[in-house]
Amino acid sequence: MMAKNLIQSFESGCVLNKQQKNVLIVYAHQEPKSFNGALLRKAVETLGADGHSVEVSDLYSMHFEPRCQRTDVVGSVQNEGFFKYQMETKSAWENGTLSEDIKVEIEKLKRADLVIFQFPLYWFSVPAILKGWFDRVYTMGFAYGMGNMYSTGLMKDKRGMLSFTTGGPGAAYNPDGLNGDMNVLLWPLQNGVLKFVGFDVLAPQIHYSPAHVSDDDRKQWLTDWAKRLHNIFEEPVLNFVDSSNFSNFKLTEEYLEGESSKQFGPTVGQNIGKPYSSTGMLKP
Ligand SMILES: Cc1cc2nc3c(=O)[nH]c(=O)nc-3n(C[C@H](O)[C@H](O)[C@H](O)COP(=O)(O)OP(=O)(O)OC[C@H]3O[C@@H](n4cnc5c(N)ncnc54)[C@H](O)[C@@H]3O)c2cc1C
Repeated sequence: MMAKNLIQSFESGCVLNKQQKNVLIVYAHQEPKSFNGALLRKAVETLGADGHSVEVSDLYSMHFEPRCQRTDVVGSVQNEGFFKYQMETKSAWENGTLSEDIKVEIEKLKRADLVIFQFPLYWFSVPAILKGWFDRVYTMGFAYGMGNMYSTGLMKDKRGMLSFTTGGPGAAYNPDGLNGDMNVLLWPLQNGVLKFVGFDVLAPQIHYSPAHVSDDDRKQWLTDWAKRLHNIFEEPVLNFVDSSNFSNFKLTEEYLEGESSKQFGPTVGQNIGKPYSSTGMLKP
């Protein structure tokens, strides 16, 4: 398999002196002929040809269960009288009694150096099936815990990125656009879902309104996506405030002092009452 990848890479003229990495693509679209389907196939083909090992979790094909339920723990639970999901799944993770479908996804996540989430934007967020993947696979104790959040989250040293499409055009997501600034929309996902568990977050790959551009434009987008993927492990990551700058859940006086003369707030979320940089969630 690997030899075949190397041969394909030689044939496509790719540079092969890069280290082979493991990539997981978590894919949430119900239609393989969609543009999301095309983006997925392009990523699998490109990363594979570059010698990387690629796994795909195709959530709709897998009929992935998105609901957090009692059945996520096999056998008995700590408190049969009052089911507390976080605590029960944490102890199930420690005891090896999580349901099999969660365990399989956890193993994929453990192997991955890079995780790409490929999806169409639904209600300014991820489709429910992908939300359910985060809800269930990010088990407390495995992905995060007390003292293991953000910079010390347990996905530390892995790269994570959102790759998504929209219905609305790019102009609608500008600071003066109908849907509002994409920076604001991305804060909950990139900070609250990716950074929270420790991922080094890459700039998002956004394809605005693929249904309303020409076929030539879409083909060019696929070519550009492949170009980006060739260097995805060398890309700088987005800036977040390191967790060491917080005390009792708040930015320290020392940190705030250092920020006092700056024009922009540190991040979209920790804006300390200042304008935030208009590229904060979009570019490093
Ligand atoms: C429940 C729901 C909520 C939504 N919420 C939002 C929202 O909050 N904000 C928002 O902006 N949008 C929203 N949308 C719209 C949604 O985000 C878009 O419809 C979606 O992102 C478009 O991507 P797609 O892959 O489905 O496109 P498709 O319509 O499948 O594809 C676009 C075009 O690409 C073509 N194509 C496929 N493969 C190739 C290829 N290899 N080369 C060239 N062309 C190709 C297809 O034939 C098609 O013509 C929502 C939609 C739903 C259903």
